[in-house]
Amino acid sequence: MLDVLVFGPHPDDAELGAGGAITKAVVEGLKVGIIDLTAGEMGTLGTKEIRLKEAQSAAKKLGVEFRENLGLPDGYLGLDISQEDIFAVAKKIRQYQPKIVLAPYWIDRHPDHVASSEIITKAAHYAKLKKFKLEYPQHKIQQLIYYELNGQFTPSFIMDVSDFFERKKEAIMSHKSQFKEFSKVYLPFPLVERCVYYGSLIDVSFGEAFMIRDSLKVDKWKTIINK
Ligand SMILES: [Zn+2]
Repeated sequence: MLDVLVFGPHPDDAELGAGGAITKAVVEGLKVGIIDLTAGEMGTLGTKEIRLKEAQSAAKKLGVEFRENLGLPDGYLGLDISQEDIFAVAKKIRQYQPKIVLAPYWIDRHPDHVASSEIITKAAHYAKLKKFKLEYPQHKIQQLIYYELNGQFTPSFIMDVSDFFERKKEAIMSHKSQFKEFSKVYLPFPLVERCVYYGSLIDVSFGEAFMIRDSLKVDKWKTIINK
């Protein structure tokens, strides 16, 4: 059983969008796993083998329990979403029974990111339906939370990742075939500046933005009072 299951379209997306929050969850004692939907084999840089290796070394930096790859077809994912793709993700949700699932935001210039968002969103739905026989028993997650890649949203909340920004950087730079300089990681504008910007909105050094479609339940004022 996991607390947080993070899905990424390509082998570097989870850390690009949520690397700080992932490490923060691990440090807080939560059980976190990452599943990449594709191996990024259609990317201009790197090969499937190199990218899978880089993803594992990034996972070590983040400190997660495991990182798997579903092996869905990179590049083609954005062309056509199949029932098999949705059920493959739904099975993983049932297998690991996470409380929270992280998925990429559904508006993005990369069709694979858009498709992944839809696949994961639908998978979370089918994972909870008892009458769909998907290898494991049904599982209902508590919250589906979206992170940013190339798209931007008005955040539902911003997580303070100041203490974990270095680890996010190390994880991203583990993808040596993809990135040479951290200051030149664009999504589509500099990632560092994006995190500084979100940090500034909550008065900290670095922040990561998240969005939820469902309302977040607040049962105690203390939940939303920081100090
Ligand atoms: Zn990607």
